[in-house]
Amino acid sequence: MKIIDIEKLIRPHFSNLNTYDPVDPPETLASKFGVPKNQIIKLNGNENAYGSSPKVSDALSTLPLHVYPDPLQINVRNALSNYVGIASDRIIAGAGSDELIDLLFRLFISPGDGVIACSPTFGMYEFIAKVSDARIKLVPRNNSFEIDIESVTQSIGPNSKMIFVSSPNNPTGNTISLDQVKTLLDTGLIVVIDEAYYEFCKKTYAGLTANHENLVILRTMSKWAGLAGLRVGYGIMSPKLVNHIIGIKQPYNISIAAEAALLSSLEDSEYLLEKVELITNERKRMFSMLANIKGIKPWPSEGNFILCEFQPGCADNVNRGLEKRGIFVRSFKLDMLSDHLRITVGTSEQTDSVIKSIAELV
Ligand SMILES: *Cc1c(COP(=O)(O)O)cnc(C)c1O
Repeated sequence: MKIIDIEKLIRPHFSNLNTYDPVDPPETLASKFGVPKNQIIKLNGNENAYGSSPKVSDALSTLPLHVYPDPLQINVRNALSNYVGIASDRIIAGAGSDELIDLLFRLFISPGDGVIACSPTFGMYEFIAKVSDARIKLVPRNNSFEIDIESVTQSIGPNSKMIFVSSPNNPTGNTISLDQVKTLLDTGLIVVIDEAYYEFCKKTYAGLTANHENLVILRTMSKWAGLAGLRVGYGIMSPKLVNHIIGIKQPYNISIAAEAALLSSLEDSEYLLEKVELITNERKRMFSMLANIKGIKPWPSEGNFILCEFQPGCADNVNRGLEKRGIFVRSFKLDMLSDHLRITVGTSEQTDSVIKSIAELV
């Protein structure tokens, strides 16, 4: 038998890929750290502690699972159009907004093209850039995590195509200003504003898509609607761009289950937005509790999470202590965030537990 080295057939840029650092599911955390699954306090993925709308589980139980879903997502896009207040020909859904990030790369990026993001930020942009064999420029944010807009414009080169900004930014919690968005749009590059946490801050630039063909807004049902497990997000952009995405996406990217879950969540948006309000109130409470612990600086946040800065060298210890107690928060490999932990805002009970433990561990 001929011996074949399949490694030689794999595209060269995949040979030393830095993989994305995803969060483990509760089962894995339970077995890894020896904590009973039902005692885990999971505050590492910005998931919704209140779960999804009860209407979702009702809708899921009666679905015709043997039929393919609608490739044009007509019902989904109409319902989203109603919710967002923007015409349905400007909206397209993806299997999570992560899929839309991937599709934007497929649409715009050839190997070697440039993409810009403002570090520290959501790791998916860099990850998909590397998978796409793009060059990613990570322009550091300033000391207060604001975007350094001059460095961004100066970093644009002849092959630059797209700029990604998360607003509110994961993990720092702050938003981009209108002036900065306008400066980015004036560069003529594709500007992607990722509004995954829109419902927690109510600040949006979606209206600008009407007059700016190079603007893409990303949203998701994962955080405010508690549908992270079903994978459904959406983009708002020019109708032209929507059609290009329809042209290249997997036809059945929104499953029957994801479709039904999205529709019943939007029907029940009042209930879900009440939970969002509970979370934003809890964010305020958590922030002042953290601010009262000596040696911690919480950063103001407009998302459903708070980034905490610890004294140099302390964050790791606190994180390990929390893990032992079955409390999971997000730590970072990035040098810039080595003294930081990001804590998702959950229920009051969860806040009380995590705060009590941090105060003992710090
Ligand atoms: C959580 C998150 C997403 C992921 O959304 P999905 O719809 O679950 O893929 C996208 N962008 C940011 C900034 C996020 O924090």
